[in-house]
Amino acid sequence: MSNADKLAIAGGTPVLKRSDYQNWPIIGPDDRRLINEVLDSGIVAGGTAPQVAALEREWAEYIGTKYCLTTNSGTAALHMSLAAVGVGPGDEVITSAFTFLASASCALHQNAIPVFVDIDPRTYCMDPDKLEAAITERTKAIIPVHIQGLSADMDRIMAIARKHHLYVIEDACQAHGATYKGRKVGGIGDIGTFSLNNYKNLPGGEGGLFNTNSLEYLEKAMLIRCFGDEIDEVSHRRIYNASILGYMYRNQELPAAFARAQLLHLDEYNAIRIANANYLTQELAKIPGVIPPYCPPECQHVYFMYNVRFDPTAAGVDASPRRFRIAVEKALYREGVLVGQWQTMPVPAQDIFQSKLGYGGSSFPWAVNEAKGIKYNYDPNQFPVAQALCDSYTIVHGVHAPNGRELMDKIVAAFHKVFADLPTALAHADDAIYPGADGRLYGAG
Ligand SMILES: *Cc1c(COP(=O)(O)O)cnc(C)c1O
Repeated sequence: MSNADKLAIAGGTPVLKRSDYQNWPIIGPDDRRLINEVLDSGIVAGGTAPQVAALEREWAEYIGTKYCLTTNSGTAALHMSLAAVGVGPGDEVITSAFTFLASASCALHQNAIPVFVDIDPRTYCMDPDKLEAAITERTKAIIPVHIQGLSADMDRIMAIARKHHLYVIEDACQAHGATYKGRKVGGIGDIGTFSLNNYKNLPGGEGGLFNTNSLEYLEKAMLIRCFGDEIDEVSHRRIYNASILGYMYRNQELPAAFARAQLLHLDEYNAIRIANANYLTQELAKIPGVIPPYCPPECQHVYFMYNVRFDPTAAGVDASPRRFRIAVEKALYREGVLVGQWQTMPVPAQDIFQSKLGYGGSSFPWAVNEAKGIKYNYDPNQFPVAQALCDSYTIVHGVHAPNGRELMDKIVAAFHKVFADLPTALAHADDAIYPGADGRLYGAG
């Protein structure tokens, strides 16, 4: 065996170097121009300040909704949405078992109780076939999540929501620019929410966006975003008289300017992600045991994350899916491929749901309903599809612009190299190797 064939995990030469990867976000002249506009203006903050107001107009237009509000995080936008539609103590909010915690913790922050639905085995989004069984007379809202850049099955989710008179809050925090039947996600439900954090397809450093066509939700959200404080209709000044419970969820000028500059390139950068992902999918599908992501024909995926699963049976090896994934992940990582898991378990399997300890370490908000004899069971066995995904998937980092074909070819070569010697990879499955991308790849310090 030549040193080029010998796996790096066994002392061979790695296929890739860290310098083969270019970082995200891409910072260019538009970012500098708009950031300098803020500095030159001397206006750095304010709920109706110029950059914030412009971002709201531009993002409403991009998504195709009448209104948009910026917030200081995607999590804030989700919580503000539930508050704006009037979700409250003891209400249930349904979301997907495979998502980021914030899709569920936003319900807890509103004293409501998250209920989880397992995922579709191909799209990894909420399985509409399992949605109706999760609805009770306490259900108030559904939060479908457009996971890793792919739209949930919105027609079916909207139809079920309408039938049961439920609000639909889209968690589009991972899917800026993704479409479902030609419509942008985040503009389909009652409210759509986005994150502007550094990892996302539309980064602002930090921040969030709230989209709606409803003037009622807009006006309520404007109050909630700023302490619940009323504005005097004549003077347009805050009168420091809160009429409802609010929070401090405003964004600010520098992140808004940065997001506006990034928005000028969103479609171009998404097209690069799509081209890179399609190429990886075409090439990796040729390797028995590698399962690339699926995109239904009615959707445009924007590949916030590129997810591959591994199937030991198809690869012809005798190992559990979990052990096989760990072995391949470590071997790829040693070849210099930035791979590693994002969520390691279904969200309901996290300690907070297992312990059901919320406010102040108490049993609230679950106790609101458990006192009435209603039980909440977050047994992970109820989410076998999400669990099987968590056992078998990894994220292939680096599909973002400006990375291109050169990097994709090296990633493909590393996959071929590892899959040509799976016994060696499996022999190193217990090595102390910790796969994952470094923060720098995504502009994090
Ligand atoms: C990123 C993300 C959020 C939260 O966004 P922040 O801006 O980090 O608060 C919510 N839901 C999902 C699915 C996300 O990926």
